[in-house]
Amino acid sequence: YYVGMCLAASEKQLLSLSQAPEAWRLFLLLAVTVPSIACILIYYWSRDRWACHPLARTLALYALPQSGWQAVASSVNTEFRRIDKFATGAPGARVIVTDTWVMKVTTYRVHVAQQQDVHLTVTESRQHELSPDSNLPVQLLTIRVASANPAVQAFDIWLNSTEYGELCEKLRAPIRRAAHVVIHQSLGDLFLETFASLVEVNPAYSVPSSQELEACIGCMQTRASVKLVKTCQEAATGECQQCYCRPMWCLTCMGKWFASRQDPLRPDTWLASRVPCPTCRARFCILDVCTVR
Ligand SMILES: [Zn+2]
Ligand SMILES: [Zn+2]
Ligand SMILES: [Zn+2]
Repeated sequence: YYVGMCLAASEKQLLSLSQAPEAWRLFLLLAVTVPSIACILIYYWSRDRWACHPLARTLALYALPQSGWQAVASSVNTEFRRIDKFATGAPGARVIVTDTWVMKVTTYRVHVAQQQDVHLTVTESRQHELSPDSNLPVQLLTIRVASANPAVQAFDIWLNSTEYGELCEKLRAPIRRAAHVVIHQSLGDLFLETFASLVEVNPAYSVPSSQELEACIGCMQTRASVKLVKTCQEAATGECQQCYCRPMWCLTCMGKWFASRQDPLRPDTWLASRVPCPTCRARFCILDVCTVR
């Protein structure tokens, strides 16, 4: 470009450096130095069969004394080709977990850690109302991967909380969790939480003192704690029906029953739908679920 300008704009006297305008001299300087720096850097990296390249140096941290970083690279390659690896994240920040390696691949860097000496800690969770590819609330987890090897820099990986279970399966080390972080593992868990908070604001139902509360017939673990009372509309109107069963279910089991009758592909309709009572089949909605006092 500079040579072209020398010929095209001969009045600027670009050919003789001492007389060329200041800005053009700076331009020429940059045009020469930047590519030469790049060339020198590439030459430096390529010495000793690319052993100075940052990626090779990262891998060399795990190499055994008698073998080079190439051995580590081929181990990573072999494991990466297995279909059971765990991979997630956008192309700019892929997270890949294979049988022995935890890797994070970003545009300019590759972080590698060996599974046997990493500590994973969930440091943060962020709730987003909607994710771009489905209209569900999503929770993003930040997991810090720190290695026992001091030469390996710690790095953060991000993933959706629904993939957390899958990640735990692939990892051999347990994942520690910072005390304030709550992980919503699946849509079901999220629904149960919402269900419980909605039932809480419904009017409570007081059992006659003569009646003893039995154990929940769903889980047999806790006492029955909810009763279905039609409160959403007047007795004779609407689609809901009055259920005459005594309290037999705990809140969690009732929530699970409610969720099990829903269309998993349309979670936006869940809260507004009606399901039959698990015992007498009378239809009810969430407004009709009353806690027992
Ligand atoms: Zn139960
Ligand atoms: Zn019933
Ligand atoms: Zn109702």
